[in-house]
Amino acid sequence: MNEDATVVENKSQQNNPNHLPVINARCYVAGKKIASENILEVRSPYDQRLVGTVALANASHAEQAIEAALKGGQKLTRYDRFSILDKARQLLIERRDEFAKIISAESGLAIREAIYETGRAHDVLMFAAMESLKDDGQIFSCDISPQGKARKIFTTRDPLSLALCITPFNHPLNQVAHKIAPAIAVGTPVILKPSEKTPLTAIKFTELLYDAGLPHYMLSVLLGPTNEIAEPLVKDPRVEIVSFTGSVPVGKRISTVAGYKKVILELGGNDPIIILEDADIDTAVHLAAEGSYRNSGQRCTAVKRILIHENIKDTFIEKFVAKSKTYTCGDPSDPATVVGTVIDEASAIYLESVVNRAIEQGAKILLGGKRTGALMEPTVITDVPRNADMVVHESFGPLAPILSFKNIDDAIALSNSTAYGLSSGIITNNMQHAIRFIKELKVGTVNINEVPGYRIESSPFGGIKDSGLGVKEGVIEAMKCFTFVKTFSMPW
Ligand code: NAP
Repeated sequence: MNEDATVVENKSQQNNPNHLPVINARCYVAGKKIASENILEVRSPYDQRLVGTVALANASHAEQAIEAALKGGQKLTRYDRFSILDKARQLLIERRDEFAKIISAESGLAIREAIYETGRAHDVLMFAAMESLKDDGQIFSCDISPQGKARKIFTTRDPLSLALCITPFNHPLNQVAHKIAPAIAVGTPVILKPSEKTPLTAIKFTELLYDAGLPHYMLSVLLGPTNEIAEPLVKDPRVEIVSFTGSVPVGKRISTVAGYKKVILELGGNDPIIILEDADIDTAVHLAAEGSYRNSGQRCTAVKRILIHENIKDTFIEKFVAKSKTYTCGDPSDPATVVGTVIDEASAIYLESVVNRAIEQGAKILLGGKRTGALMEPTVITDVPRNADMVVHESFGPLAPILSFKNIDDAIALSNSTAYGLSSGIITNNMQHAIRFIKELKVGTVNINEVPGYRIESSPFGGIKDSGLGVKEGVIEAMKCFTFVKTFSMPW
């Protein structure tokens, strides 16, 4: 990299109070910064300014990270784990603005979304700290059947020896927190492989955890060529669990490469918000807009399909278009911006192309549809055919395709018609209808009168079908994933 260029860009960034100076980061092997000639440049998707650089790791760093984790170090009591997580929570509050600026700069997410994300990561740390104090054993009395004996069976949960956690770009901090905090809570060492598109937040979070007292063997963070870092680690028999969040094709590849080990897959989604005839229209409009546009539409649980009863479609559309106009897009670092960019220009070009293909199939744009670089306008599009790419596959951006249905049978069939099964939101005031959707939708979550993405950070979360194998995450479930259960029995 050209040193002079860095200095010039550093100066220009210091002129804008919303921009941080360029961050020159390195991967860490168990607390040690690596030396490397191989440098990744991280640029803002909005204006291509240099946000930072990362010294990348190679295969020998991956080997060193495995060895350091397995060699171990200071064993952590429950109180130690609580203290580290709670200290990290406090440090994150103190450094909220810095983290929000890094998230926004490297991902293009609006700064207000980035601030919100730091709040979510705070909750993950808080819940993991709380859970780390709870006993997780069970007791079974054995004299409870004619075959019984005067014994008791007890369970304990032991940490796995090493976890590989692979994270996507779309929540650069919270996805990482959702992997590492539960692993710390149970004492499982982690090698983190964050997205190459958003590595700076992950490295800064790693440093924050070291600052909070996390023993270095407990965490390494590696970025580098997939064939030197990610895939060999996925395959390595010393890695006892691969916890992956990302796209369906990569998740399916990991499941074949991993072989005989635990694999957690949190994959893509194509979530509907389903608005029934009896729905409160203003609630429906608010939730459909929040679900479609928050985080630039780049959430696995973003609203990707608005399914509306045909009798209320026109009223809904009029109000929804008006509401969508309030989701202004622009410079992510400006506190007034509601919708930032998508992750890069290539993704925005893809979104534009799926909109154009839907139009060729008869759909009509009611708002937006234009792209400038990586900025994609919030786009309302109606009369979308049921087989259009933008509703059959995951379109990861601020698109709001509207499809109408005739009755509840039709809505359930339409909702279940894609390969995905992550989450859903149902807008209705009719309890019987709500219960039918809860029972009949083939998804991991059904939220009544809420967006599909609604959750708290400790509740079970995860999809089925192509969205995942039905193994849940969320702090409590993820803690179980990072352990194995040992049973022992005694005369009693
Ligand atoms: P992605 O392309 O699948 O990448 C995810 C991670 O996998 C990145 O760190 C990537 O590294 C790594 N990777 C790529 N190829 C790999 C391989 N062969 N072996 C091991 N790791 C590999 O996903 P993304 O585009 O970053 O994220 C968006 C996707 O994530 C969307 O589909 C979204 O729905 C999904 N997602 C799901 C959930 C959920 O909870 N269900 C939550 C958030 C996001 P590089 O960056 O180096 O390529």
